[in-house]
Amino acid sequence: MKYLPINLNIEQQPVWVIGGGAVAWRKIKSLCQAGAEVHCVAASFHADIKQAAQHQPIKLITHDLQDLQVLQQLPRPKLVIAATDDPQLNAQIHQYTATRGWLINTVDEPPRCDFITPAVVNRGPVKVAISTAGTAPVLARMIKQKIEYLLPKNLGQIAEQANQWRPTIKQRVPSFNNRRRFWDRFFDWSHGSLRLLRGQYRTPNSAQIEQHIEAVNQTEGRVSLVGAGPGDPDLLTIKAIKVLQSADVVLHDHLIATDIMAMIRQDAELIDVGKQAGKHLTKQQTINQLLIKQARLGKHVCRLKGGDPFVFGRGGEEIQALKAEQIDFEIVPGITAAVGCAAYAGIPLTHRDHAQGLAFITAHCSDSKDAIDWQFYAKNQQTLAVYMGLIKADELVRQLISHGKDPAVPLAVIENGTRPEQRTVTGQLHQLTAMIRDHAIKSPALIVIGEVAAYAQQLDWFAPHVAHPNQAELLKTA
Ligand code: SAH
Repeated sequence: MKYLPINLNIEQQPVWVIGGGAVAWRKIKSLCQAGAEVHCVAASFHADIKQAAQHQPIKLITHDLQDLQVLQQLPRPKLVIAATDDPQLNAQIHQYTATRGWLINTVDEPPRCDFITPAVVNRGPVKVAISTAGTAPVLARMIKQKIEYLLPKNLGQIAEQANQWRPTIKQRVPSFNNRRRFWDRFFDWSHGSLRLLRGQYRTPNSAQIEQHIEAVNQTEGRVSLVGAGPGDPDLLTIKAIKVLQSADVVLHDHLIATDIMAMIRQDAELIDVGKQAGKHLTKQQTINQLLIKQARLGKHVCRLKGGDPFVFGRGGEEIQALKAEQIDFEIVPGITAAVGCAAYAGIPLTHRDHAQGLAFITAHCSDSKDAIDWQFYAKNQQTLAVYMGLIKADELVRQLISHGKDPAVPLAVIENGTRPEQRTVTGQLHQLTAMIRDHAIKSPALIVIGEVAAYAQQLDWFAPHVAHPNQAELLKTA
């Protein structure tokens, strides 16, 4: 069952509670806390309900509920709670309200509930509602206990004090994004949030508030160029997470993992620029201009790229464009595909016995093809990590072999490295094209060429389903 969590204002609104026992009393208590006007219909009432009715807005209607005619006398309800101990009667009440389109909660009967009430941690105006969508109420209570323990008792007062400042801040800090920065400072959120959670936090005094107002009003736009790594969200840096949770707008590549996208602050604006990030200069220019435009609006812009932004990521060009416009920037490195994929496939990129050097190369950029020093890359005792290598794989193999590379040098292709669907295929250099074809390898895939690639057969630990093609068969097709 799926639910939308909302906070409903039911102050002075009629709510019917049908039933007068202990369960009804539990519901009535929380309804009264929310200021509802409770109409409780039952043959008899729990002593606590009777007592509460003496000083709270609870109307008691004594009726045996043989027929539901009695409900017609009541004011039209905002909500209905069926809490009798008779399932058949509860079903009738559900039927009665459903035909009228009123929202009902039938206690302990999820199929007869339009809404369910969550477990609540209550700190005055601050409320944390916990729901397991009815699947495990005991688990919800356990989570509630943990949160009760975590949140200081004075959290409600802090919220009230913030509320008193709100009109002033709204007036003095006109920009929405700067207001958010103000409140981050008010609650000391970026550095000192632990004090808030420990209950040792004091709201800032007037002089400190003045300083914060001045500081946030002077905020200038800036860009954080952030590497998202190869896919596993646990490979993000702490700094990357901080940026994702504070940026006002995120310009992201197309295929950033969903789990990483989920870490972006919920109200940040998202712009997918990945589809444009092709080879064409004009399209890169569009991205550069967008970065400049957003930063000029005073925003903290996050430019989120796969892997590392400075490894085949055109990050350099973006930063040059910002520098030329004197826009403030920072660069947050990420784990590049070669490093992430090799680690997750069990391939040590360097090894004392086999590879003293490592080169990141791509055979993709047609412009730079002629500039590739194949002679150099054909040398032994080094590892080649080839990015964007699938399309030009045949050319890559041809060039390396014709410049003297051993056709039998080990090689591994890692598809979707560091992601749950990671796949590694190993073979030899001359077999590459056949491997890609026979295993239907798709982008993103990284090719590792060198003696170290053979280690994938022994050390693969993350997705232990390395495909080691039948060598004889490949020799036939290569
Ligand atoms: N800036 C990125 C590289 C962008 S080029 C980085 O530092 O990783 C895109 C190429 O990176 C893909 O064609 C592929 O060769 C490689 N790549 C990126 N993510 C990958 C992944 N999860 N698995 C395998 N290869 C990947």
